[in-house]
Amino acid sequence: MLSPTRGLTFDDVLLIPSYNGIKSRNMVTVSVKISGRTFGIPIASSNMDTVTGVEMAKFIASQGGLALLHRFVSIEENVAMFKEAGNAKHVGISIGIGNDGIQRAEALVAAGAEILCVDVAHGHSKEVNRTIREIREKWSNNVMVVAGNVATYAGADYLAAAGADVIKVGIGPGSVCTTRIKTGFGVPQLTAIMDCSRIDRHVIADGGIRNPGDAVKALAAGADMVMLGGMLSGTDETPGEIIERTLSDGSVRKFKRFRGMASREAQEEFMGQMQEWKTAEGVALEVTSKGSARNVILDIMGGIRSGMTYCGAQEIRELKRKVQFMEITSAAKTEGTPHAVDRYQ
Ligand code: 5GP
Repeated sequence: MLSPTRGLTFDDVLLIPSYNGIKSRNMVTVSVKISGRTFGIPIASSNMDTVTGVEMAKFIASQGGLALLHRFVSIEENVAMFKEAGNAKHVGISIGIGNDGIQRAEALVAAGAEILCVDVAHGHSKEVNRTIREIREKWSNNVMVVAGNVATYAGADYLAAAGADVIKVGIGPGSVCTTRIKTGFGVPQLTAIMDCSRIDRHVIADGGIRNPGDAVKALAAGADMVMLGGMLSGTDETPGEIIERTLSDGSVRKFKRFRGMASREAQEEFMGQMQEWKTAEGVALEVTSKGSARNVILDIMGGIRSGMTYCGAQEIRELKRKVQFMEITSAAKTEGTPHAVDRYQ
């Protein structure tokens, strides 16, 4: 039996401040270059059906980020969504594997898509490899291929060898994900990012980002972009209606639905029913309606800009070079959260 190795996630570490020569936090460069394309912000919206539909795609693209439309509709509807979003440089689309995946890719590339995401729960697999190779054979380097999800160097290396330009990293850290509980598998996200970004490809850190600090840590660990599901959930730009609920104290609050793509609810909707041999690996819930996604993005970008000046990083990739991580105790974590000892009521 092998002895367990150690895995760390965002809350286990802090970034150690170091010398800063940058005058103001608005003088840092937050854009990132990925496969010859420039993205104005290092943020991607998750290809979940309660996160990235047309409106979110338009919004994220307008901010310079990468929007990945979900694939939980027919191929024709996917094409219509992509056309309506109307920005091939910043809007990609996720496809599955097998025949549907390739047919979807064909229809989308014919409609002008330049970014495809081959995306399954466990990306270190033969079928993903096959799909990436087929895309590469059909369109050589005209299409940017994002592939995932993996959480190890071996997984990232496998997808890179198949021809992926960007590796999507994250097994089990998602806010509505229960893979680790249901299967016992996963890698704490910070370790997964560090491991996967040793590969000579771009990396999207997907899942587990709960605040701007997590995003800075993910970028410092080697990611080129962070992908957001939960943080964007409940915003006006997500698909789905606002639901009003009267709480027990009589107050009325607004919610929106947010669900894991492997939740029972999502699987039943898309596949008619959940097969008996499967278990749900995600949950479905209602989250508070938050207003515009703009506020979320501004908050994260503010955190990233500020974070960069805490170590004098002029560019995102400099964060990786300059920053040192410190593993912390739970007492240190408590110290770092608001804890006023006395206050006026
Ligand atoms: P979040 O930003 O909400 O923490 O994480 C979003 C990511 O969670 C998604 O981009 C996707 O990779 C992952 N995810 C979405 N739905 C599910 C699910 O039902 N099960 C699992 N295991 N992961 C999910």
